Amino acid sequence: MSHNPGTQCLHAGYRPANGEPRNIPIIQSTTFRYETSEAMGKLFDLEASGYFYTRLQNPTSDSVAAKICALEGGSAAMLTSSGQAANFFAVFNIASCGDHVVACSAIYGGTYNLFAVTMKRMGIDFTFVEPDCTPEELEAAFRPNTKAVFGETISNPSLAVLDFEKFSKAAHAHGVPLIVDNTFATPINCRPFEHGADIVTHSTTKYMDGHANQVGGAIVDSGKFDWFAHADKFPGLTTPDGSYHGITYAEKFGLEGAYITKATAQLMRDFGACSAPMNAYLLNVGLETLHLRMPRHCENALAVAQFLQNHEKVAWVRYPSLPGDPYYELAQKYLPNGSCGVVSFGVKGGRKAAETFMAGLELASIATHVADAKTCVLHPASATHRQMNDQELMAAGVSPDLVRFSVGIEDIHDIQADLEKALERV
Ligand SMILES: *Cc1c(COP(=O)(O)O)cnc(C)c1O
Repeated sequence: MSHNPGTQCLHAGYRPANGEPRNIPIIQSTTFRYETSEAMGKLFDLEASGYFYTRLQNPTSDSVAAKICALEGGSAAMLTSSGQAANFFAVFNIASCGDHVVACSAIYGGTYNLFAVTMKRMGIDFTFVEPDCTPEELEAAFRPNTKAVFGETISNPSLAVLDFEKFSKAAHAHGVPLIVDNTFATPINCRPFEHGADIVTHSTTKYMDGHANQVGGAIVDSGKFDWFAHADKFPGLTTPDGSYHGITYAEKFGLEGAYITKATAQLMRDFGACSAPMNAYLLNVGLETLHLRMPRHCENALAVAQFLQNHEKVAWVRYPSLPGDPYYELAQKYLPNGSCGVVSFGVKGGRKAAETFMAGLELASIATHVADAKTCVLHPASATHRQMNDQELMAAGVSPDLVRFSVGIEDIHDIQADLEKALERV
C-alpha cells in the first residue's frame, strides 16, 4: 500500500515483523556470516542478493535509503557518506574521461569545485549555463559527448529555482538524464521526478537529518530513463562489466535497478564513500519529522523575508516564495507548498556592514551549515565560496555582500527580535 509523504516519513522502508524492533536497528557490523564459500561467491557475482560487507551494503543504510526512495517516488536508492559523494557518484556513474556534462551555474560551491576542478582533472568537461539562459543558449551548451545535465531544485546559496521544464526538455532531446540535487526543497516541497528529472541527489546533512547530527548523502533513481534507447552514450550500463563477470547492468537489473546497482557495485566498491550505520540511524530519526519541520521552516522563512524586505538597513532580500522575487513564478509552479527555510539578503554598506550585523546576532549562530532546526547564518564569500573569484561568484549568483540566513524552527518572534537587534548595530 502506498502512503502519503507524512506517513512515509515514519513508516516507509522498514516494516518490522512479529516481535522485531519498531525502530530501524543499527546493524553495527562490518561483515555478515555465511556457511559456505559458495553461498558467498554468489553474492560477489551479483547472482544472489544479501549482505556481506558494509562498504557495499548494510541493512540499516538500506532501510533508510528505501524510505528516501519512497519519499521521492523512485525505483532504487542508496546512501553515501556525504552529499559531495552523492553528487560525485551520480555524475561519475554515467560520465567518464572524455565525456562532457552540462551544469547549471547556480549550484552549491562544493559541487561547483567538484565539477570545475576535481572532475575536470579526471578528464570530464563541464559547461556551466546560467539558470535563466534561453533554450537556445542551453542548446548550444551540448556536445556529442554530453552525458548528463545537472541542476539544483533550489540553489544553495543563490536560491534560484530550477526551470525543470526547460532543463529536462533539453536533456531528453539530447538523450541524456537530468540529475537534480533536491537538498533544499526536500521531497516534502518538491518531487523532481514529477517534473522530468531522472536522478535525484541529496545532502542528507541538511533538512533530511535536520538536527545537524550527521553528514550524509543519497542518490535516488526514477527508473524511467531508458539507457538502451541511447545505448551508445551509456556503455557502462548497456555493455558487459568485465569487473563483474560480464554483467550488463541494464539487462540484469532492468531500468529500475541498473543505475543504483552499478553505482553500488563499482563506485562504492572502489571509492568506499559509504554511509555509517549509526549515521543512517540518526538520519532516519530526522526523517521521521521532516513533514512537520519543513512547513515550519517555510512559514518562519517567509516571515523573516517579509520583515527584512521592510527594514531600512536591508539593501535587498531574496526568497523564492516572496512575491516579487525573480524566482517567485517558478517557485509557485514547482514549490507551491513552500520552498525552503533559507533567505539571502544584503545589508546596506556591503561586506563590512554584513560582518557587523553577523557579530550582533545572539540567537542565530555563525556556522558553516544551513538547513537545520536551529537558525544559523553564513557569509558565503568568506566561507563556502571563498575559492571563487568575483566573476565566478557573480555567475553562481553570490554577491560579496550576500548573507545566507538559515531560518530554523524556533519561535518566529525570537528570530525577529534577534534580527532587529543585530540590524540596529549596523
Ligand atoms: C551541503 C550541500 C551539498 C554537499 O553536501 P555534504 O553533505 O556537505 O557533503 C551538496 N549540495 C547541496 C545543495 C548542499 O546544500
